Order: sequence, then structure tokens, then C-alpha cells
Amino acid sequence: MNPTIIVGSGLAGYGLLRELKNHQYPSPITLITADGGESYYKPNLSALQTKKKTAKQLIMATAAKMAQDMEAEILTHTQVTAIDTANHHLTLDDGQIKPYHKLVLAIGASPVRLPLTGDGAGEVLSVNNLADYSVFEERLAQARRVAIIGPGLIGVEFANDLLQSHRTVAVIGPIPWPISNLLPEPVGRALQQIMRDNGTSWHLQTSNGPINKHDSGYSIVLENNSVVEADLVLSAVGIRANLQLATQSGLKTNRGIVTDRWLQTSAPDVFALGDCAEVDGQNLPFVQPLLIGTRALAATLAGQPEEVRYPPMPVSIKTSLYPLVVLPPKTNVGRWVFEGSAATGLVGRFMTHADRLAGFVLSGDRISEKEKLMEEYPP
Ligand SMILES: Cc1cc2nc3c(=O)[nH]c(=O)nc-3n(C[C@H](O)[C@H](O)[C@H](O)COP(=O)(O)OP(=O)(O)OC[C@H]3O[C@@H](n4cnc5c(N)ncnc54)[C@H](O)[C@@H]3O)c2cc1C
Repeated sequence: MNPTIIVGSGLAGYGLLRELKNHQYPSPITLITADGGESYYKPNLSALQTKKKTAKQLIMATAAKMAQDMEAEILTHTQVTAIDTANHHLTLDDGQIKPYHKLVLAIGASPVRLPLTGDGAGEVLSVNNLADYSVFEERLAQARRVAIIGPGLIGVEFANDLLQSHRTVAVIGPIPWPISNLLPEPVGRALQQIMRDNGTSWHLQTSNGPINKHDSGYSIVLENNSVVEADLVLSAVGIRANLQLATQSGLKTNRGIVTDRWLQTSAPDVFALGDCAEVDGQNLPFVQPLLIGTRALAATLAGQPEEVRYPPMPVSIKTSLYPLVVLPPKTNVGRWVFEGSAATGLVGRFMTHADRLAGFVLSGDRISEKEKLMEEYPP
């Protein structure tokens, strides 16, 4: 029998491999990955300074160890370049053709790269995997001042992390307060203040212009005409699902590779999972939805079809200076009601006009109340 092929060795690809092993999946499995195939927990990339760890120390298992433990064939540093969905086979970058029985795309997302100008633009880094972090780590060893373009979740987590290793951090971006897409203003402002007190300079409601290189680092000219000096510039302006392989192979794509609730794509026997997938209209690049997907898909592939059902999924933000948990409301019709102190910790409830809890945020020493808020949250 042709193998079931999983493409990608991130939390989605390896998560599915583990689940299939739990199901004692009968057919052979091959996992193909463009990277080295190391198993690691990606969210820790924005907390490594806090944990005083290197990228290497994040590796839980090599590809060889994963292959042995999971009893699967793993091909590393191998790119899938085309899928022939009619004939059920893949083309690899070395020209090899690989037939599959079932195919799972767990090919993740890539950082959005803004069109940057200036002679330092080519040296701006982004971090979305272990290899990226190794480059970042090397450059960071010589850097005291780091500029981060992007005051969203990942940019702010990196800023918080760098403060733990005594860097000064400048965060640049057009939004009014940090992580404003998820955090209501009072909580965003409290985070901003605490991080400012710890060495962050915020350059919000403005954008970066040219990034110019000079002897002692980079000068970033902002649209408001101020200038940020830095030894290292990190871009963290969002990620976008990797769609090229799917699109050129004729699979339906939108913000992700389009799937139904069984993670089935528009082609027979081809599934998508994790950051690359748009499941029943939702592209959710987080760990919890991905884990729910791996469990459901393993059952489906093992012959017990299981649809993906997402419960309310609060997001924990790794800002150790002011930890946060947020369940963003899906509506903006209603009002935030806060209790507590901005400096030490807030509980914010988003109440609809019918006085129903539609979302919440917890900060600082109040994050321990997550379970209580989840119980209050209507089913
Ligand atoms: C710094 C950072 C912090 C984060 N923090 C959190 C957090 O606190 N909580 C949370 O829930 N989420 C967090 N996330 C998001 C979370 O880590 C991701 O949602 C998750 O790791 C995505 O896993 P994935 O397997 O879908 O994709 P990826 O990890 O991107 O894996 C994709 C895999 O596909 C392979 N691949 C791609 N194209 C091909 C091809 N053509 N051929 C072969 N192989 C290919 C790649 O080599 C890779 O192995 C964070 C992300 C980052 C970057």
C-alpha cells in the first residue's frame, strides 16, 4: 500500500504523527519536511531569553529519534514542489515522485515581509522557526538596542523577552496601543506602561520609513520624523499561510488552504492542518486549534470520522512583566466592564446588551481567574 504522507514537521505534522501512533494506524507513514525535522515547541521562541535557553536547547528530539519513536519514515531538508491530486503523487525538489494513499498538508505559515527601504532593509530579521532564531541569536549577541517593527502579539512577546536579557527595546507600528487587535484599551495601556518602565520605548501611531545602516547599527526614520537607533531590527508584522504549493496544485485556497470541518481539502484524500489551513472559514494560527485538528484528523484517517469543533479558546500572551489571557469577543456590540487595578491586574468582561458575557481579558495577578471566567462564559 502507498504510504500516508504528512508534509511538515511543526506542531501540526508531528502532532498528527503522534495521534496516528496512538490510533495504531495500520498503513505506513512518511513525513516530509523542508527543515531539519527537529521536534520543538515553537511558542517558546518568544520566551527563550526569559528561560535563558538557546534555540538548540529547545530541541526535544531530532528527526532520527522521531522516526524511530513514531515508526515512520522521515525525509528532512526535502521540499514538496508539486502535488498531482488526480494521480495521487507528489514531486520532491530532487525530482523524485512519491505516491500517496492519503496526504496531509501541515506546511505552516510564513512571516509577512513589508516592503522596507534603506540600505539596512536587507538585514531586518523575522523569527518563525528554529533556524530563524539561530540567526537572530547570533546577531543578538552583539546587540544592546533592538528595534521591533510590529506591536502585535509576537512583537510584544519578543520585546518582553528581550527586556529580560537587559536589552533596550523600541517597538514601532501604526496601532494606538500594544496588541490592540486583541486587548481593550485599559489593558493595552497598562501593558504599555509596565513595559515602558522596564526599558521599552513605544513609537505607536506611526510607521517606519527607511532603515539606514551606519558604523554603529541602524537608524530607522519614522513617518513622524523621529529616528530610532538600533543594533538589530526585528520585523514581526504578522504571518500568512503558505499557499503556493496548494494553489499551484489546484487546491482551493483563501486565507488558508480551504477545508471542511473534517479537514478535507477540495481534492480527494488530501487534508490540511495547522497554520496553513482554513477550517470551515477560520484560519487560526495557534496551538490549541491545531491540537484539536490533529486529534480529529487522526480519528478520521483511522476510519472513525470526527469533525473539528472548537470550544472557546482563550489566548495566553507570554508577557511575563504583565501576563495576559484574552478571549476576544466576536462582536463589538456591547461594553467592557473592568474590575481591579491596571498596575497589578485587571479582570475585564465584555458584556452584550442582553448582559451576556461575550469575551474577557485577565491581566497581571488576575490571570489565575481564567477557569472562573470560563465557567461564567455561556456555552
Ligand atoms: C514566536 C512565536 C510565538 C508563538 N506563541 C504562541 C503561543 O504562545 N500560543 C499559541 O497558541 N501559538 C503561538 N504561536 C503560534 C504557534 O507556534 C503556531 O500556530 C504553530 O507552531 C504552527 O504549527 P504548524 O505545524 O502549523 O506550522 P509550522 O511550525 O510553520 O510548520 C510547518 C512545517 O512545514 C514545512 N514545510 C513548509 N512547506 C513545505 C514544503 N513545500 N515541503 C516540505 N515541507 C514544508 C516546514 O519546514 C515546517 O516543518 C507562536 C508562534 C511564534 C512564531
